[in-house]
Amino acid sequence: MHALTAAELLAVWENGSALSSPRRALLILGAAAPESPPAELGRLSIGRRDDLLLQLRAAAFGPHLEATATCPHCGEKLEMAFNTDELRSLSPANVGSVVPTRTDVTAPLTLECDDHSLTFRLPDSFDLVEITTGSDLAQAETALLRRCVLSARNGNHVLTPDQLPAPVVTALAARLAEADPQADLSLSLTCPACDHHWAESFDIVNFFWREIEAWSVRLLREVHTLAAAYGWSETEIVALSPARRRLYLEMIAS
Ligand SMILES: [Zn+2]
Repeated sequence: MHALTAAELLAVWENGSALSSPRRALLILGAAAPESPPAELGRLSIGRRDDLLLQLRAAAFGPHLEATATCPHCGEKLEMAFNTDELRSLSPANVGSVVPTRTDVTAPLTLECDDHSLTFRLPDSFDLVEITTGSDLAQAETALLRRCVLSARNGNHVLTPDQLPAPVVTALAARLAEADPQADLSLSLTCPACDHHWAESFDIVNFFWREIEAWSVRLLREVHTLAAAYGWSETEIVALSPARRRLYLEMIAS
């Protein structure tokens, strides 16, 4: 896996604009790890996927992140600043050294709850791609959990995932969150106006995607200005380092 170049980021933006969020995540990972088979990247747990995306984001735009949130109690707008390392609960590693391997393909886990015995696996990108079809959130969550059940028994009775009672599904959700903590990033926030505390979830896929979009539009404007002034091709301009592009743009403006 390597840090994305400007040309790769631009291609990701162009190819991903019409895709769903889980497919965009796979597109970004695929561009950064062309050596990894797509099926392998798709089978990474969501926490592992997001951890890699955080590293790729840091490599592309730096580790510093800024976001806004609204206090659910009084409506106060908060500005948050944090960095990618703070969001990574798994062992930190450099982008250069992170190569998804078969060990990332999640091994079956077990759950015993209310006389029910389950084996299950962690959700992956293929699950998210399958369930992101506009159904309501609670239904999608239940569908996701049930996809991850490999076998279920109540005593000697074999159950299908659809037959699991609600408390077992709830226990399963808790076990999944525990087993893949990076999959649900939440920031604990305190409102400066009313002192309300709450957890705000952070979606690295959407966050990174919005940045890639804004960056791509900015880059293409720069390409336009430089191409008009110097007659260079898009490929040549995109291949320039940001520092060189900025200097040439300053020369045109002066
Ligand atoms: Zn507040």
